[in-house]
This record gives sequence, structure tokens and C-alpha cells, in this order.
Amino acid sequence: MEFHYKILVVEDDDSLRCFINGMLEKNGYDVINADTGSDAEILASSHCPDLILLDLGLPDKDGMEVLSNIRKWSAAPIIVVSSRQSEGSKVAALEGGADDYIEKPFGQNELMARVRVALRHVRGSGTNRSIAFNGKFCVGELMIDYDRFRVYINGKDAELTQNEYKLVALLGQYAGRVLPYDFIIQKMWGPNVRGDNQILRVNMTNIRRKIEKDPSHPRYIFTETGIGYRMAEE
Ligand code: CA
Repeated sequence: MEFHYKILVVEDDDSLRCFINGMLEKNGYDVINADTGSDAEILASSHCPDLILLDLGLPDKDGMEVLSNIRKWSAAPIIVVSSRQSEGSKVAALEGGADDYIEKPFGQNELMARVRVALRHVRGSGTNRSIAFNGKFCVGELMIDYDRFRVYINGKDAELTQNEYKLVALLGQYAGRVLPYDFIIQKMWGPNVRGDNQILRVNMTNIRRKIEKDPSHPRYIFTETGIGYRMAEE
């Protein structure tokens, strides 16, 4: 399995959008594009990107409005990329929920560095310090490698699918805590998928078959009946 972070690029300037796309793809990211504010909001909720690059001057609505609408439900990092250079615009964007602000024109290396930093913060955003520190979570024979997007059992790749990896990685970030079904579903599939735990159960059955010696008596991921799942602590 090959895992790629998914980045939503919101930019109405075609040539700049192409340029940013090329740069992101070259660095191994999956890219989704929007050239209007309303498209951005729809795609953000249907694709659940890991990070959003947001232009402020959009044809249909101001990027600040898009920012506040997405922020109502999403915790994904949002980097504003704008030609507005006043301190006031930057402060307003950061206070409005942006994680970072890049002025146009920007350097390619600077943009990529800020993308990496924002994604690193996501990785360490749970309660787990060792993930933030060395990119790994270990318990028993299970190891989640957040840099390689892989899960190993006894040093052997468990060959999880992309969704299975995302689910295990999320539980690892909050190891020891029960994550409610709705929280997990929102994190994985966005705010528009509601109340259907079936898809989660199917994924969990497959995960357990791959990582547990005895899937009916799990050692790593526990079901808290009627509530959610919990990863064992290190
Ligand atoms: Ca623009």
C-alpha cells in the first residue's frame, strides 16, 4: 500500500494552480483542485483533505468566508496563500483559524517546507509524545511508522489498505483513549457521512485479521461496545 497525503488547492489563477499542483505531485502528495470558494467547501467536506492551501481572492466569495466555513467542522491545517500583504490580513486569517500565511509571490522551497511543518503538527496533535518525537508508535509487537505510513507486526508489513492505515494511525495518536464512532467517521470521511458504523466495523474486521493473532480476543485495538475503539497504550 502506498499512502499519500491529500491536499486541496484552492486557487482561481489557472497557471499558479498548475504550478502548485506540479510541485506537490512531484513531492508525493495527492492533489484536489478548486477554483471557487463554493467548490472548495464542497470538496473539503467530501474528500476530507489532510491539508488545504487557500487563496483569499476568489471569484465567488472571499477566502476568509471559506476559511471560517471549513473551520466550523474541520481541524485540517489550512495555509492561506495570498497576495494581501498587510499585517491586518495576516492577523485576521490566523485568528480566523488559518495555521499559516504565505505571501505571494512565494518560493517553491518555502511553500513545501511550510506544508511539511503543518502536516507534522497534525501527526503530533494527539496525546502521544513519541509519535511527535520520532514518528513511531509501538505497543507489543505492533509498530506504526508515521513517516512511512505503514503498520508492522513483528517487523513485518501488515499490508493495510489506505483506509485501514488511516484508522490505525488515528487510534495510535490517541492511544489509551476511547475514540467515539462519530469522531472516527468524521476524521476519516468528513462531516457528511453520518451515523453509519457498518463501514467502520468492516474496516476493523479486516484490520484485526491482519494485526491480531486472535482477532476475537484483540490485544491492540479494543471495542468499547456502543461507544468506539481504543488502542492499547505503549
Ligand atoms: Ca485569486
